[in-house]
Amino acid sequence: MSRPQEVNDFITDHSPNPVCNKCIANGLGWSNDAAHPAQITGALATTSDFVQETGTCSICKDSKKVIRRA
Ligand SMILES: [Zn+2]
Repeated sequence: MSRPQEVNDFITDHSPNPVCNKCIANGLGWSNDAAHPAQITGALATTSDFVQETGTCSICKDSKKVIRRA
């Protein structure tokens, strides 16, 4: 499965709750990987399927940039 697809699925699994890039990386086991999910979520946010905004991550509860299913 491609990385964008993994990110897409992770966000969809948590829908309608928003998640942050850090929790996406942790959730997908990318913590030791240089491939940061920010570029992927940035690309997903340009589609009508996703909304990226400042909010509270449903996993780590931090207030930061999060993404969720539109
Ligand atoms: Zn988080």
